[in-house]
Amino acid sequence: MIPPVIFYHKIDKPAPDSLVRGGFTPPRRFARQMAYLKRAGFVFYTASELIDHFQQHGKFPKDGIAITLDDGWQDNYTNGFPILRELGIKATIFIIPSCIGETSTKAAATGEGARAHLTREQILEMSRHGIEFGSHSLNHRLLHELSPGEVRTEVVEAKKQIEELTQRPCATFAYPAGFFSEDAKQIIKEAGHTAAFTTFYGPTDPPDLFALNRTEILRRDRFLFQFRKKVEALRLEPDSCR
Ligand SMILES: [Zn+2]
Repeated sequence: MIPPVIFYHKIDKPAPDSLVRGGFTPPRRFARQMAYLKRAGFVFYTASELIDHFQQHGKFPKDGIAITLDDGWQDNYTNGFPILRELGIKATIFIIPSCIGETSTKAAATGEGARAHLTREQILEMSRHGIEFGSHSLNHRLLHELSPGEVRTEVVEAKKQIEELTQRPCATFAYPAGFFSEDAKQIIKEAGHTAAFTTFYGPTDPPDLFALNRTEILRRDRFLFQFRKKVEALRLEPDSCR
């Protein structure tokens, strides 16, 4: 079972200095992809709503999809949010509390310069309009390389700061770069999250709620048919037991 969750990073054209361009989705392409999902009858869930549904029904909702964005880049607000808002699509952004309001390299890809993250005001405005904020750890350190004590700080402190800012529960977590460990899963669960997302490293049958795979939408998915193939593969068959 592949969870019906897609993920993006930057909604922007690639920066001239960036060597790793896969994480950029140009705004016009993002708009076309979101319009496709609406037209094709997908039903939008935030990450935490999708998990709640799974816990209540033992499966993901038919035609359900959750759109997630990692790292909390400022372009999510300037380029992505207007599109989501116009189409009435909800999404979940996994943010790094130590980066809020900062221009930082903490989540930058190899060879990439510092880049602006969302400000507190932008997060609050989006939070009022259907965007959910999950945790992407306090400092975007790779959790499988840290001691349990360090992981606890990264996890517990991030959840606390996000909830203090948004005044809403921060229920879900996304592992920096997708890397997790058994310790990290346990600590995230104990901290009160309902689920944690990886990239493609999690088990599928059955899925592990604390290592859920997501489908990445990359810059090379430039034609709509490529995007369509990826998202249609996530749609549940009627009466399927997935
Ligand atoms: Zn990240």
